[in-house]
Amino acid sequence: MAVERTLSIIKPDAVAKNVIGQIYSRFEQAGLKIVASRMTHLTEKEAGGFYAVHSARPFFKDLVSFMTSGPVVIQVLEGEDAIAKHRDIMGATNPKNAAPGTIRADFADSIDENAVHGSDSAENAAVEIAYFFRTIELAPRTR
Ligand code: UDP
Repeated sequence: MAVERTLSIIKPDAVAKNVIGQIYSRFEQAGLKIVASRMTHLTEKEAGGFYAVHSARPFFKDLVSFMTSGPVVIQVLEGEDAIAKHRDIMGATNPKNAAPGTIRADFADSIDENAVHGSDSAENAAVEIAYFFRTIELAPRTR
């Protein structure tokens, strides 16, 4: 298995629930290293650009509204098989279908407000990391 990097977002609902630390602990317990991290409040343009792939979907407007409703914490996670490992500990998009013990099962309320984002492929991870971070901002944990 290769060492990968993936883009993770703790969404406004989870930040409002004050569970940033608990979610970070789950990343660390899964062997994922946090190599970049930033709290920000996304603008409509930033959130819409990030989710541009969903711009034709019926939920797009509500998704942008939710993602701009409060601060988010954005991080780059690094580790063996990081993309799939992160998706595993996040759980299914709809928390009703998320396996017990996953982040979404424990902290998400609905498919719209589902606590976390995670890249779903190596291609998207590269694009999403570059959307939020410059190369120089990624801590060289492997150096
Ligand atoms: N989403 C939504 N309603 C839906 C489907 C998705 O609000 O019916 C939102 C939800 O926040 C989800 C995001 O759009 O996390 C991206 O959807 P995707 O299917 O890519 O799920 P993910 O990769 O986040 O599990």
